[in-house]
Amino acid sequence: MSRIAAEKILSAAQNVLIMTHVRPDGDAVGSAFGLKHLLLDWGKNADVFFPEPAPDYAVGFLTEYKTELTAEELEKYDLLVFTDSAAPERIACGNWDIAELLKRNSLCIDHHENNSVNAAVKWVQPRAAAASAMIAELANQYKGAEYQLPVKAAEFLLLGMTTDSGCFRFSNTNPRLFFMAALALNSGVEWSRIINAVYFSKPRQQQLFEADFVQNHVQIAADGKLAYAMLPQSLFDKYGFDMRNGETLIDLLREIKGTAISFHCYKKGNDVKFSFRSKDENYPVLPVARKFGGGGHLMAAGLTLPDAGLEESCERIKDTLIRYLNGKSWE
Ligand code: 5GP
Ligand code: MN
Repeated sequence: MSRIAAEKILSAAQNVLIMTHVRPDGDAVGSAFGLKHLLLDWGKNADVFFPEPAPDYAVGFLTEYKTELTAEELEKYDLLVFTDSAAPERIACGNWDIAELLKRNSLCIDHHENNSVNAAVKWVQPRAAAASAMIAELANQYKGAEYQLPVKAAEFLLLGMTTDSGCFRFSNTNPRLFFMAALALNSGVEWSRIINAVYFSKPRQQQLFEADFVQNHVQIAADGKLAYAMLPQSLFDKYGFDMRNGETLIDLLREIKGTAISFHCYKKGNDVKFSFRSKDENYPVLPVARKFGGGGHLMAAGLTLPDAGLEESCERIKDTLIRYLNGKSWE
C-alpha cells in the first residue's frame, strides 16, 4: 500500500498509540517519537508505548512515553502505529500479544524489504534510508511543501535519519534522505546537539571496550575480505558494556580497508545474535542472514540463532561467508 493510505488512516484517527521495535535503535526512537510530535502538531492525541530501554545517546531527547499499557488504556486508542519494525516478533509490545494488537485498526510504517507486519494499512519503502525519513516525507506531502516541521519532531526524525545512515555514510544514503534531512534542519533544530550526543559522547569505558575489541577480538579471513569478531560475555563484563549501546561497534570491522563483509556475534540469553554488514554490492549480506532465518536490509542484516553455542555458531557463519566471498557454493 501507499503513503496516501497511510495519510488517510492517520488523518481519520484521533487517539494514536505508537510502538516500535525491540532493542530500539536511533531510527526506532526517531520514527516513533517523531511521529508522535507530528500528530500532536496536527491536533491529535498521540502516545508512544516504549517498554524497552533506549540507547544512552537517545535518552536525553526522549519526551513522555508509556512503559506500561493496561487493557483499559488500550481501548482509548483508535489507531495503533508500528514503526521501523520488520516482523511482528520484532515489535516491542511488552506483555501484549502482537497478534491480538494487529487485529485492531493499525498502520505499519517501515523500510525493511519483506516486511511481515500485517497491519490494516502497510506502507513499506525498502529504498528509504530510515523509517524516520519516510515520516518526514509523509509530513511534507500531507501538509504541503510550506509546512514547517515542529522542532521536536524534526529533532527526532533527524536522530533516526542520522543513525540509520551512519551519519549519511552508508550505502542507503540517497538524495531523498538529504532532502528530508534538509527539511528537518530547516525547522531550527540544533544539529550539533544531535551530533554531539550520538557521535561525540562516548563514555571512556566504551572506548576502552572498543580498544580491547579491536586489539584482541577482531579476526580477518577470506584474504582480507571478511572481518569478524566473536564477543565473549567476559568482554562485556570487563567494561560493564551493554550492546544496547553497541549500534556502531560493527563499524570498527566495516571500516577496515579491503573488507567486503563484516559480522560480529555474541550471546543474548540462550541465543546467539549476529550483525552483518557489507560494503560491496556484489556480496550483499541479506541472502546469507535469510538463509539462517534472519533478515534486515540488503547491505545490513541481522540474525538470531535460538539456543545456540557461541563458538560453533560463529564458526558455521564464518565458514559460510568465506565460501560466499570466494564464489563457492555456500547455501
Ligand atoms: P543490527 O545488526 O543493527 O542489529 O540489525 C541490522 C538489520 O538487521 C536491521 O534492519 C534489523 O531489522 C535486522 N535484524 C537484526 N537482528 C535481527 C534478527 O535477529 N532477526 C531478523 N530477522 N532481523 C534482524
Ligand atoms: Mn530503521
